[in-house]
Amino acid sequence: MQAEIIAVGTELLLGQIVNTNATFLAQELANLGIDVYYQSVVGDNRERLRAQLQLADQRSDLIVLCGGLGPTEDDLTKQIVAEHVGETLIQDPLGYQKLLDYEKAQNQKLTQNNFLQTLILTNSQALQNPTGLAVGIFYTTKDSQKSYLLLPGPPKELKPMFRQVARPILKQQFPEANQLYSRVLRFYGIGESRLVTDLADLIATQENPTLAPYAKENEVTLRLTVKTTDESLAKTLLDELEQKIQLRVGQYFYGYGEENTLVKVVVELLKEKGQRVTAAESLTAGAFQRSLGELPGVSSVFPGGFVTYSAQTKIDFLQIDPSLIAEHGTVSQACVEAMASQSLKLAKTDYALAFTGVAGPDELEGQAVGSFWIGLATKEEVTSQFYRVAGQREKIQSRAVMAGLDLLRKELIK
Ligand code: ATP
Ligand code: MG
Repeated sequence: MQAEIIAVGTELLLGQIVNTNATFLAQELANLGIDVYYQSVVGDNRERLRAQLQLADQRSDLIVLCGGLGPTEDDLTKQIVAEHVGETLIQDPLGYQKLLDYEKAQNQKLTQNNFLQTLILTNSQALQNPTGLAVGIFYTTKDSQKSYLLLPGPPKELKPMFRQVARPILKQQFPEANQLYSRVLRFYGIGESRLVTDLADLIATQENPTLAPYAKENEVTLRLTVKTTDESLAKTLLDELEQKIQLRVGQYFYGYGEENTLVKVVVELLKEKGQRVTAAESLTAGAFQRSLGELPGVSSVFPGGFVTYSAQTKIDFLQIDPSLIAEHGTVSQACVEAMASQSLKLAKTDYALAFTGVAGPDELEGQAVGSFWIGLATKEEVTSQFYRVAGQREKIQSRAVMAGLDLLRKELIK
């Protein structure tokens, strides 16, 4: 079962838009256990699209095309595929009716070319569009050798159509597609190159499950994937491999799942324990608290906090002794620990994080760009840690937020 993706559109070739559809489709197909061996981009051009289809026929069982389903002159995908497989184009009644309803609702006569969007191939399956008017197509040749999936170009139409309409069809059509089991492990505090080095032999020798690292912003994930029809065998194999991984790099592991994040894990831990956190932020200007605020229902663990960017607001909002700042400066261990313990006291929480440092581009108090302190106050003690990271302002700030979350997570699981 081999698939390929053909993105159609001259704008893609000119570099005016990024081929995010291919990225999306590649991930979705991989999750279905469908191997994508080729991806290509073709302009809105009859001859070249025809040639690309001929090439795809020689090497792929499933050919996924995206783009060019619209109403305009340059939208030729359906036409060319129809000619290629020897079918003609007919109106899809459902799509046609939807367009008529739309016309009525708009109270405006649609131009005739709009109805091109609702054409499908004879002997094909129409894929209704949950967020637009162009109808997609799934077509399998009479000898069942090749299948073609045609999807609209705009990502906000392609994604829902794929997830809601096309994916169930593919699952049914290619049952081996259900034989893939994945587990995603997430790590913070270890770089991709280090992780890959520590796991080099496992990555090189593992065939089933396979082991694939992905570097993300400030973190690394590992995807373990096993191909089998036996679900309990899948679990055993994944458990075995995970155990080997945890033995080597377990100290950096923080959670499971593609959609998981460090902040989610921290908030979950706080909820489990019924505890609350606040923060006093200088360096990060509220970014830590913002990251908490991105999660729904966070108010039970985060009552609020402080953004104290200047020395004066540290004194005014947090009641820090001016002489402490005069003596040690704001980018100092003494200051960060005072920020942490004062915010804990004022917000009456179980934990408080404090951030102070130099985001750049200029030095501050004689300290280099990328130097910062994070303080963590609990009801028992205040601790702090110094960091020095390379990079631009935004990266330094996001690193600090992640480092703060990691400190808190470690405290929570102690
Ligand atoms: P429309 O009805 O909008 O014309 P269409 O199915 O004919 O849809 P195209 O004309 O090829 O699709 O592309 C429409 C828009 O969709 C593009 O201008 C672009 O913004 C987006 N788009 C197309 N292809 C891709 C792609 N491969 N990746 C990301 N975005 C894309
Ligand atoms: Mg178009």
